[in-house]
Amino acid sequence: MGSQSQPLHVLIISFAGQGHINPHLRLAKRIASKGLLVTFTTTQDIGLRIQTSIKQSPDQDVGEPIPVGLGHLRFQFFHDGWDSSDPRRQDLLQYMPHLETVGRPALTDLIKNQAEMGRPVSCVINNPFMPWGLDVSDALKIPSAILWIQSCIVFSTYYHYHHSLCDFPTVDHPEREVTLPGLPSMSADDIPSFLLPTNPYTTLTDAILAQFKNLAKAEWVLMNTFEELEREAIQAVAKVEKVVTVGPLIDLVEEGGERARVRGDLWKAAAECTEWLDAREARSVVYVSVGSIAVLGKEEIEEMARGLRGSGKPFLWVVKESTMGLLPEGFVEEAAEQGMVVNWSEQDQVLAHPSTGCFLTHCGWNSTLETLAYGVPVIVFPQFGDQYPNAKFLVDVYKVGVRLWRGKSGLINRDDVEGCVREVLEGPKAEEIRENALKWKEVAGKAVASGGSSDKNLEAFIDGIQKCLV
Ligand code: UDP
Repeated sequence: MGSQSQPLHVLIISFAGQGHINPHLRLAKRIASKGLLVTFTTTQDIGLRIQTSIKQSPDQDVGEPIPVGLGHLRFQFFHDGWDSSDPRRQDLLQYMPHLETVGRPALTDLIKNQAEMGRPVSCVINNPFMPWGLDVSDALKIPSAILWIQSCIVFSTYYHYHHSLCDFPTVDHPEREVTLPGLPSMSADDIPSFLLPTNPYTTLTDAILAQFKNLAKAEWVLMNTFEELEREAIQAVAKVEKVVTVGPLIDLVEEGGERARVRGDLWKAAAECTEWLDAREARSVVYVSVGSIAVLGKEEIEEMARGLRGSGKPFLWVVKESTMGLLPEGFVEEAAEQGMVVNWSEQDQVLAHPSTGCFLTHCGWNSTLETLAYGVPVIVFPQFGDQYPNAKFLVDVYKVGVRLWRGKSGLINRDDVEGCVREVLEGPKAEEIRENALKWKEVAGKAVASGGSSDKNLEAFIDGIQKCLV
């Protein structure tokens, strides 16, 4: 790809969160594997945190190109001017405008610097969480794309809300159903919670909706989904935006090689997970994680702990370091025969492991796609935002699991945890769920394999970059 002397050079900009880093980095690897040079950038503080999982050897310079398939991947970070421990980072109201002020000149310089180094940027792929990135590429007259990292259904929902194209629940009509083109109507409980009148996270809603501000400046809207999964929603959105589905963005473990080795973990994954899983029976383990942001309170951690114990099934539970103290006293030791608690796992490796029988998940979009791509049945336990529609579709439409509901108290209870584990692993429904999960695994795998729908779309996108240059 590219001219004979110089490959096309794509710059991928990711926001500083695990749920952003993973799909952007996986896209970077996919594009590089097609023979392009890809530079992955994010803020310096995140660069420092992920560097042990991106380096192939301790003495490797992070700027050094790493061979990936037919091409190369390199990393270059920009400083956002704040200390990594600065508490203002946690406050989007302060961080987002700061990042924009610092990021605009920093990214402009970074892009200009690529040309000076003899590798001019042919296309910028921008995280729409930083919509001003499109202004930077536009000012430098470089074609650009955004990567949408949630489902197409969720894109459509926010898009319609942002442009006031249909009615949403309000204070006066909190139960109003939402009807979007190509989709069955959704109840208020099934739309992203950030759009509900009761939503307390208005700063986050503003940041999410800001993604639509500059969309017209992007040549392409790349989406981490696949045609077979969301056909009707994709067709409807494609009428208004230039959608290119390139997902599921996962590094299929069986593909092995350099792609899977370059990771972007913000926390150090527990090394012992694989060995522990190796010693368990096929499809017996309950893997539990609520992703990189959500945390459970003390009561729910206690109920989860008792429910997992009561199920009698082996479990691998990711509990963040900050909430380890909320586990029942002595639980880790008492449950050691049955289960293991870790602070972070290499989740895709866990899901790909034959001992993993089901995934009790918060339904972040990356986790949703990973579980579908590895054919692992789910117990859905959404916490906020798009996790609600993802949970709904996993259970009611893709039919790959069951739901763990919160009771009237607003909390889960141990009997329900235990009941869900049994239902998904050994109840009469388990067989059917497992067959559906395996069917999705096949469809997802085909979409990204050579000649599959997403693979062809990615190649057409790369051809499109080429055409912009001539
Ligand atoms: N993840 C991981 N190890 C863990 C927990 C999560 O590698 O112990 C990864 C997971 O595979 C996914 C990402 O972190 O790619 C979380 O993204 P997701 O969209 O599922 O949820 P978020 O963290 O954004 O809520």
